[in-house]
Amino acid sequence: MQTTTIARAVTFDQGAQDDLAHQVKNKFFSDVTQRRSMLVSQLPLTVSLLIVTVIVAVVSPATLADLRFQISILLGLALTAVCVLLPWNRLPANSFVVVPLLDFPAVGLAREATVESFTSLGLLLVFPVIWLAARLGRLGVALSFAATALVVGVPLLAGPSITLSDAARPFLLPAIMTVIALAVHILVSSIASQDRKLRLKDAELRMSYQESLERQRLLDTMLDTVGVGVHAVDASGKDILMNQQHRRNRSLAAPSGDPASTEEELNILASDGTTPLPAEHRPVARAAQGQSFSDYLIRVGSPANQRVLSSTATPMTDKDGKFAGSVLAFSDVTELVNALAIKDDFVANISHEFRSPLMSILGYLDMALDAPEDHPGQHESFLRIAQSNAEKLLSLVSDLLSVSSDSMGVHPQRMDLMDLIGMCVASAGPRAKSRGVDIVNEATRSLWLTADPGRVTQVLDNLLSNAIKYSRPGDTVTLRAWETGEAVCFSVTDTGIGIAEEDLPKIFTRYFRSDSVRESSIPGVGLGLGIVKRIVENHGGSVTANSRPNLGSTFTVTLPKGAAAGEAEG
Ligand code: ADP
Repeated sequence: MQTTTIARAVTFDQGAQDDLAHQVKNKFFSDVTQRRSMLVSQLPLTVSLLIVTVIVAVVSPATLADLRFQISILLGLALTAVCVLLPWNRLPANSFVVVPLLDFPAVGLAREATVESFTSLGLLLVFPVIWLAARLGRLGVALSFAATALVVGVPLLAGPSITLSDAARPFLLPAIMTVIALAVHILVSSIASQDRKLRLKDAELRMSYQESLERQRLLDTMLDTVGVGVHAVDASGKDILMNQQHRRNRSLAAPSGDPASTEEELNILASDGTTPLPAEHRPVARAAQGQSFSDYLIRVGSPANQRVLSSTATPMTDKDGKFAGSVLAFSDVTELVNALAIKDDFVANISHEFRSPLMSILGYLDMALDAPEDHPGQHESFLRIAQSNAEKLLSLVSDLLSVSSDSMGVHPQRMDLMDLIGMCVASAGPRAKSRGVDIVNEATRSLWLTADPGRVTQVLDNLLSNAIKYSRPGDTVTLRAWETGEAVCFSVTDTGIGIAEEDLPKIFTRYFRSDSVRESSIPGVGLGLGIVKRIVENHGGSVTANSRPNLGSTFTVTLPKGAAAGEAEG
C-alpha cells in the first residue's frame, strides 16, 4: 500500500515536472502579476540610471547635453513605462525579453557618453543580464554574452583606430557578465530543483497523511463494530485508544456514569460481584505492569445492571523490544456466567428434588417390609405414601422430558374454563390448607373456548402451586377469569413474597430460580413457568407476570377462543 502511494506520488509529480522549472522561474519574478514582476525587474536599472544622471549633473554637467546620454535615460524611462503599460499576460510568453534586450543599448549609450568621467558604468549591464539568465536559463546566458559583446564591440568598431588593449576590451565585460549570468542561472536552477524536491516531499507527505487518516477511519470503524471492548494503554497505564464498547463498559463502572472518569474512579469488582478489586489487581494496572493474561473475570455496574467482563491483555513492544504498553480486550460474558450459575443450581435442585421422594419411598418400603408386626394395619398407608412419592418423581421426570424434548403437543377441543379452574382449585385445596393459605375462586362464570384441557390444567396447576408455594401463612390466592373479544383470560394472584424487579424478566427462562428463593428452603427446579409459557404460546396465547416484592404477584394468561392448532403433536 505504502509503495503504491509513493509510486502514485512520483507519477503525479513527474507529470507536473515539465511545468515545474518554468513555474519556479516565473515564481521568482512574477509572484503577484506579470506587470508588477516586469516593473520589479526593470526598476533597479532605471533607478541606477537616474542616480547616475544626478551624479553626472553634479560632477560633469556637460554630459547632460550629450545626445547619447539623453537617449539612454529616455530609453530607460520609456522601457519602465512599457513594463507598466503593456498587457503582458495577453502577449506571447517570452515577449518580455524585448525589455532587458533594449536595456543593453540604454546602458551602452550611457557608458559611451560618460566614458571620460565614469569607467565602470558598463557594470549596470548586470541588471538585464540577471533578468535574462534567471528567466531564460542557458539561452539567457548566451543572449547576455552576445548583447554585452555588442555593447562593448560596436563603439570600438565605429571608432577611429583599435589598439591591442582596445581589442582585449570587448572580451572582459562580456566575460564578467557571462560569469554572472551563469551564476544566476545555476542559482535559479538549484532553487528550482530544491523547490521541486520539496514539492515532491510535500506531495508524498500529503498522500501518506491522507492514507493514515483513511487507515485511522477504517480502524475506528472496525473497533467500533466489534462487540468487544478494546482499550490500549502505554507503559505507564495512560490511555492510548478506546473503542465505543469499552466506553460503555466504563460508564457502567463509573459512579457518575461518565465514561471519561479516570481508571482510579472506576468501581470494579472481583468475579464474586461484591469484593472491590484492589488497585494493583485491576486489569489496566496489571497490563501496565507488562503482565499477559486471559479470561480474567471482573464485574462492573450496579447490582441491578451488573455485567461480567472477561479481560485479556497482550503486551506491546517498541522497535528495540522494550515494553511499550498493552492492548486489553473486554468481552461481556454475563449471559454465559449466568447460564453456568443456573446450570449449577439446577443440578443441585434437581438432586434435592429427586432425593426427598426417593428417601421417603425407601423409608416407607423398609417399614412395610422389615417389621410388619410393629405397624399392624398400616401397610396400606405406607405403600400409598410410597406410591404418591413415586408419582411425584414421575411427574418431575415428565416435566424434565417435556422441556428438553422441545415439543409439547396440543389437542384442542371445546371446553369450559370455569370447570377446569374449579377442578384445579379443588385439588390444590389440601396443599393450600396445610400451608395456611386461602384460595378464593372468583371464576364462577362459564367461559367456553377451544383449547387442550390437559395442557390448560397443567398451566393452572403450575401457577396455582407456585402461588401457594411462594405465599406465607395467612396469604390469599385469588383466581379470576374473563373474556375480551376473541380471547379468554384468567389470572392467578397471590399476596405472597413477590418477585424482585430485576428477576421479573427472567422467570420464564428454563431452570431460572430467583436468588431469594434459592436461598430459602422452598422446593423447585425452575421448570414450571417455562412449561407454562410453552403451552400458552402453543395455543397462540400469551402469559405475563406482574409482581411487587413482599406484596405478591399476578400471572395472567390470554388464550384465543378458537384455539390455534398450536404446535403439532409432539
Ligand atoms: P420453581 O417454582 O420450580 O422454582 P418456576 O419456573 O415455577 O420454578 O418459577 C421460576 C421462579 O419464578 C421461581 O423460582 C420463583 O423465584 C419465581 N416465581 C414463580 N412464581 C412465583 C410467585 N407466585 N411468587 C413469587 N415468585 C414466583
